[in-house]
Amino acid sequence: MKKRSAIVIGAGVVGLATARALAIRNYKVTIFERGGKATGASIRNFGMIWPIGQPKGKMLERALKSKAIWKTIANEANIWYKESGSLHLAYQEDELLVMQEFAATNEGIRNTTILTAEETLKKSKIINPENLLGSLFSADEMIVEARSAIHQVALYLEEKYEVSFYFNKAISKITYPKVYCGNEYFEADEIYVCSGSDFETLYPEVFAKQPITKCKLQMMRMKGFYPNADDSPSLCGGLSMIHYAAFQEAKSLMQLKNRYEKDYAAYIKWGIHVMLSQNQQGEFTIGDSHEYGFDLDPFDKKYINDLILKYFKSFGLLDSYEPIQTWNGVYPKLTNGETELVLEPEKGVTIINGVGGAGMTLSFGLAEEIINVKS
Ligand SMILES: Cc1cc2nc3c(=O)[nH]c(=O)nc-3n(C[C@H](O)[C@H](O)[C@H](O)COP(=O)(O)OP(=O)(O)OC[C@H]3O[C@@H](n4cnc5c(N)ncnc54)[C@H](O)[C@@H]3O)c2cc1C
Repeated sequence: MKKRSAIVIGAGVVGLATARALAIRNYKVTIFERGGKATGASIRNFGMIWPIGQPKGKMLERALKSKAIWKTIANEANIWYKESGSLHLAYQEDELLVMQEFAATNEGIRNTTILTAEETLKKSKIINPENLLGSLFSADEMIVEARSAIHQVALYLEEKYEVSFYFNKAISKITYPKVYCGNEYFEADEIYVCSGSDFETLYPEVFAKQPITKCKLQMMRMKGFYPNADDSPSLCGGLSMIHYAAFQEAKSLMQLKNRYEKDYAAYIKWGIHVMLSQNQQGEFTIGDSHEYGFDLDPFDKKYINDLILKYFKSFGLLDSYEPIQTWNGVYPKLTNGETELVLEPEKGVTIINGVGGAGMTLSFGLAEEIINVKS
């Protein structure tokens, strides 16, 4: 029987996850990527596979499914990863209270434990001990080095599933069953548009009607100075608990949020919460901020990076705070609280977008759900 064919547009994590889900179901898959390689949000992130940020139920399951797929791919393709786990660090009683409530309501559901200050410090050498009250440890989080992993996943799909890649080919128009790059065209039985924050090129009139915007994040990377710091879980402070939906189930969260709004007004204004991940070279990735809109400032604001570092120092300890790199990334964000945008702008064409700040965590699981229903 002739294989069904599929074209995927975009070689970011959403496109790769979609291509994988199709290829394992015996589709003949071709990916078109505008750049010489993916250079969007998927290679600019922390590389955190972060189930702890996802509310329990469907989203947590999707995150854990994604993590399992990441692990399988990483093992088969020899991609570096670390099941680092995560620590949310508490320096105030109200932060610890939210963590305790969260751990209590997740008992038996997640691998979370409340640690004393002493136990917390045993987990990592880069935690600021001053005024530390304790932490929420979760064993479920994993990190990859996104900038290399995304390209390695592409190679893996090519080698294992014979997925064909066309790089440096921007698709300028789709009229099912054809996708056009200028006058040249290609055809497939199914077409998937995974174009990330580019709402301008394909189906702009469809995107214009959606509750979707863009979000810019500032990031930085520090040299790894501690040879033994690679034992550290990924770290974050209390502000991350008001960022991730999972913590909304803690009944004291609103009180904590109210305090943060007073104590950290500038942080709330710029959507700053601070996290740290560490790659295989020991380097630390630290971020981030969140600025929303279609007219994003292309330039980074030094005071945002200063705020990020100031907050980082309240819970992290490094030998040097001089970044070796700074950058920003942009992802699409749904404004109606939904977690993904899946649309059929014309028969045979599916748009998969809107995974926001959790695409590394959710895409493989999401693609499984979407393609499973379709095939
Ligand atoms: C700074 C930052 C930190 C983050 N941290 C994390 C994290 O730690 N964990 C997590 O889970 N998520 C994180 N995220 C979110 C995650 O990175 C995104 O959700 C995810 O990368 C989105 O993937 P994507 O494939 O939709 O977009 P992209 O990675 O932007 O990929 C879209 C691709 O489509 C291509 N394309 C677009 N239009 C066309 C066209 N017409 N023709 C051909 N190609 C086209 C683009 O060139 C691009 O390569 C972070 C995001 C940022 C920006």
